[in-house]
Amino acid sequence: ALYDVLNRYGASETAAAGTAAGPAISVGDLLTGLESNQFVAYFQPKVDARSLEVIGVEVLARWNHPQHGILAPGLFVPLAENGGLIEILTMAIFKNAIDAGSELHRLGHQLKIAVNYSAQSFGSLELPEFIVATSQAAGLDPRYLIIEVTESGLVHDPTVALDVLSRLRLKGVSLSIDDFGTGYSSMEQLRRIPFSELKIDQGFVRGADQDATARSILESSIAMAKKLNLTTVAEGVETQEDLEVVRSLGCDLVQGYLIAKPMALADLIVWLQRKR
Ligand code: C2E
Ligand code: CA
Ligand code: CA
Ligand code: CA
Repeated sequence: ALYDVLNRYGASETAAAGTAAGPAISVGDLLTGLESNQFVAYFQPKVDARSLEVIGVEVLARWNHPQHGILAPGLFVPLAENGGLIEILTMAIFKNAIDAGSELHRLGHQLKIAVNYSAQSFGSLELPEFIVATSQAAGLDPRYLIIEVTESGLVHDPTVALDVLSRLRLKGVSLSIDDFGTGYSSMEQLRRIPFSELKIDQGFVRGADQDATARSILESSIAMAKKLNLTTVAEGVETQEDLEVVRSLGCDLVQGYLIAKPMALADLIVWLQRKR
């Protein structure tokens, strides 16, 4: 069945290898990994900047590779995008994420589940249907789902982005702008797409206490987001100083190694239990 899907998407065996350092991986390896369910979701908490209450988690893809161990997405997401496999990879991650979300809800953790969505998938109408159908089947209200799209992905093809993202929004899914500050989107574009959250790129967050330029970019991004009624998230918060800066600028949520690193579901459940 996977091969039928692949044929439809026109997967190519000759896509260039990913750019991040690590073992050489081919599209064929990726396909094998998808067929044998080697892709798993890791979870990083998103917490309230003041109370540190856990509001949700971001889902980050990992490849549990039989030879190379746990591989980071920088190694295989670009390869999947170039090799025509990103829809299938995204489906696999959403399936994991939604199952985890309903498990967390059963355990009494009413968290929002944010999943990264590649701009390369904007042309797919099957993906939004898959997401909605999968969450309904798992008994997880799509209102608990957030889709993170990078600011640079929006600039790529704004009309197609608007179409697919509006469809998801109509089903109750929330939309988040990722890596804000790196993509040169216009205010107009941000207004046209029904976003509810803006995540400031970690390049402006880490070490912001020592960097006046980063701090003024943070400040103006947060001010703009507030005008557009968006929840602001600072990611890459690594130190208490980073946390103090974003708090003082009125950022709503934080995410980063200071709070927790991305972790497997079992570890997340233990972490949440300890926090209680
Ligand atoms: P992103 O969406 O901006 O995700 C945040 C990245 O920053 C993650 O790297 C996370 O582990 C890392 N991070 C979080 N807090 C800190 C911190 O305090 N310090 C530092 N140094 N890093 C921190 P990761 O997991 O390697 O993911 C890299 C990128 O790969 C993501 O960036 C996202 O663009 C992409 N990605 C991950 N999972 C998926 C997926 O399922 N689908 C798609 N299309 N892209 C994905
Ligand atoms: Ca993200
Ligand atoms: Ca980001
Ligand atoms: Ca990023």
